[in-house]
Amino acid sequence: MVEKLNPQLSAVGEMAVPDVQIITSGGLRITAHSHILASASPVLESMIERPKKRRSSQRNIPIPGVPCDAVSVFIQFLYSSKCSEEQMEKYGIHLLALSHVYLVPQLKQRCTRELSRRLNTENVLDVLQLARLCDAPDLYLKCMKMLSCNFKAVEHTEGWKFLQNHDPRLELEILQFIDEAEMRIKRTRRNREEQKMYLQLSEAMDCLEHICTEGCTSVGPCDMDPSKNKGPCSKFSTCHGLQLLIKHFAACKKRVNGGCLRCKRMWQLFQLHSSICDKPEQCRVPLCRYCPKEAPSNVRAHV
Ligand SMILES: [Zn+2]
Ligand SMILES: [Zn+2]
Ligand SMILES: [Zn+2]
Repeated sequence: MVEKLNPQLSAVGEMAVPDVQIITSGGLRITAHSHILASASPVLESMIERPKKRRSSQRNIPIPGVPCDAVSVFIQFLYSSKCSEEQMEKYGIHLLALSHVYLVPQLKQRCTRELSRRLNTENVLDVLQLARLCDAPDLYLKCMKMLSCNFKAVEHTEGWKFLQNHDPRLELEILQFIDEAEMRIKRTRRNREEQKMYLQLSEAMDCLEHICTEGCTSVGPCDMDPSKNKGPCSKFSTCHGLQLLIKHFAACKKRVNGGCLRCKRMWQLFQLHSSICDKPEQCRVPLCRYCPKEAPSNVRAHV
C-alpha cells in the first residue's frame, strides 16, 4: 500500500488532526478531516456518520473506480473549491463522475463547463456517455450538437464502431437527434423563405397602391398629371419594376389568356390586392372592386 499525504491538505492538517482516510482502488491513502468532507458532500457526510465497526479505528472511506490522482484532486477540491486547468484537462471525466456520485454541484458545474470546452470528435462519444450517466443535460446537448455537426468525422472513429456494437440504444438516440436537427434546420430555412416572400409581396402591395393612387415616375392614374412625377421613385425599390409590369399589362397583345407570364404575374398582384383591400369604395387600384375579363383601362402608361 502506498501512503501519501495530500500536499494541499497540510496547511489545514496543522489546525486539526485528520480523522479519516480516503482509500483509492490503487491503494493510495489520503488523510483528511471528516468535518470538511462532510460539509462539502452530503454523500460523504452520511458515510462519515455511519457507526464505525471498531471503536478505536480511524475511519476509512473507499473511493474506488477512478485513478488515485483523480481522487487526490477531488479531495483537494473539497477543501479549497479549486483545481487547476491541468488537473481538469487530465481528470475532467473522472471528476465529473465523482462530483455526480458524491453530490458536489460546484465541481459538477465546473467539469461540465470545462468538458464542453474541450470537446472534440475523438472524445465526444465518451463524454456523451458520461453526461448521460451523470445526468448532465447541458453537456449531453453540447455533445449531441457536436455529433450532428461533425458526424462524418465521428462515424469513422473506433469509438463509434464500438458504440454501434455495444450500445444500439444510444446509437439510435444519436441518429434520431441528428435527424431532428436536420429537420429543424430545414424548417427554419423554409420559414425564413416564406417570411421573405411575404415581405416582398407586402411591399409589392404597398407599391401598387402608391402607383395607382399617387402615380410615380411615368405611370399613374388617368386623371393625374404625369409631369409631376418625373423623378425615379424614392419610396419603393420595386417601384420601377412594377411600373414596367403595369405598362406591359396595359399594352400586351398576348395577355393572360394567351399565356403571357408577365401578365399573369400582374394579374395575380391585382387579385391579391383586391383580396386584402380595406377600402374598395375609394380604391384606385385596377380590378379592386370587380374582376373584368379585359385588362383595366383606368391605368395607362405615360411614356
Ligand atoms: Zn414609386
Ligand atoms: Zn403580357
Ligand atoms: Zn383596392
